[in-house]
Amino acid sequence: MPIDMVSTAALTCEPVPAKRDRSVWKSIKLGLAGKCPNCAKGKIFYRYLKVNDRCPSCGEEFFHHRADDAPPYVTIVIVCHIVGTGILTLDTFEPNLPLIYHMLIWPPLTLALCLLLLPMFKGALIALQWALRMHGFETASAVTQAPLGNGREARSAS
Ligand SMILES: [Zn+2]
Repeated sequence: MPIDMVSTAALTCEPVPAKRDRSVWKSIKLGLAGKCPNCAKGKIFYRYLKVNDRCPSCGEEFFHHRADDAPPYVTIVIVCHIVGTGILTLDTFEPNLPLIYHMLIWPPLTLALCLLLLPMFKGALIALQWALRMHGFETASAVTQAPLGNGREARSAS
């Protein structure tokens, strides 16, 4: 092969963009706060549990996520351990406590913890999938997407 053909072939090849490292723990921490794991500025959710299609700040794609039932499972496991431990501990130290006190403490605490932790765990799971390049996140890049104006424009149709 003549030397000029080799150099021509090398010039016509598209440059392959290098994959940027994605820190798992940093992404999970940002996801727990509901922030974009790519830029740490945009929000993952546009409503309580509704995920933006793209980050409103940097345009990173979120519609690849497959959170499914994992966030409720994790929430149930954590909340049940907290509330179950609390019930047993209170019953150990106050065995004659009237049942009405248990009814006033544990159901509201369970509800409050579930409502607080569910979006946190969903955000963390989406950020974990992003960091591990799962599903469609391996090809998602903010470089190819223009930033959007706000979360309302970026929300999904579902
Ligand atoms: Zn972002």
